[in-house]
Amino acid sequence: MGIVVTGATGHLGRLVIDELLEKVPADQVTAVVRTKEKAADLAERGVRIAVADYNVPETFDGLFSAGDKVLLISSSEMEKSRFAQHKVVVDAAKAAGVALLAYTGTAASLKASLADDHRATEQVILDSGVPYVLLGNYWYHENETEQLGQILAHGTVLRAAGEGRVASASRADYAAAAVAVLTGEGHENKTYELGGDEAWSLAEFAAEIGRQTGREIAYTPVPADALTGILTEAGVPGPVVAMLVGVDVSIEKGELAVLTGDLSRLIGRPTAPIADSIAAALKSLEG
Ligand code: NDP
Repeated sequence: MGIVVTGATGHLGRLVIDELLEKVPADQVTAVVRTKEKAADLAERGVRIAVADYNVPETFDGLFSAGDKVLLISSSEMEKSRFAQHKVVVDAAKAAGVALLAYTGTAASLKASLADDHRATEQVILDSGVPYVLLGNYWYHENETEQLGQILAHGTVLRAAGEGRVASASRADYAAAAVAVLTGEGHENKTYELGGDEAWSLAEFAAEIGRQTGREIAYTPVPADALTGILTEAGVPGPVVAMLVGVDVSIEKGELAVLTGDLSRLIGRPTAPIADSIAAALKSLEG
């Protein structure tokens, strides 16, 4: 009986493991990874390592034990059927009789195609009868701040999100929420809508970058088809273009701006503002 985290060598997974190790002994934590070498540092810290690949169902045979609490971090392989990948984990969790299966999905209000695999995964979890927690992670601050190099190079935030607002939150806050449900009580069969405490607009995002850098940074809203053309011209693969533009359209419609307070309640503190992530990203660009 332990806590098992998939995607443990990813950005979110590493933050989850770090925080778990502050709360439970390392030998109660299993990191599921597809490349053992990437997890050498975790093994050194006493974390159990299990090697498994969402694309190879038999690698999950016998991986979970009855009574485990499992965090399924959604796959990053956008070119694959992430639903089929996630179902492998859900089936294995059901077969083992785990005590809890937490899943990092998305906002219930998000209509963009990005949400399709999440919806299908959530349904298969509900149908499985396994005790669950659905973590509806809206949008990472880092999705935005990882673009800072480009934004500074062009002096503009070029997007198809109109005047829409987005209640994003930091990966660290999403990791803390996952740890709260894995280590706390009373979360079985709950769905949490996890956005930041504040929703901001792209114009405000641009202005904050300008304020922190002392530079003039504009927000240039463009229609969705124009952004599709610009990204395609820049060599971004078609499915990624469709995903990015689809999310912008959803942001414009306010689909990621629903303020629920679930995230700050789960983590027991206000969510970190986007300004903090901008500052951290600028620091790492300098370094
Ligand atoms: P990362 O890309 O850093 O991590 C993804 C993790 O999934 C990695 O550990 C990766 O393994 C693992 N993984 C990918 N494919 C497989 C596979 N076939 N079998 C087993 N493991 C696999 O993403 P983040 O940590 O930043 O985010 C976690 C997830 O959250 C993403 O995968 C994505 O689904 C979702 N996401 C949500 C966002 C939002 O705004 N709500 C934004 C960005 C992502 P490895 O370490 O070996 O590469």
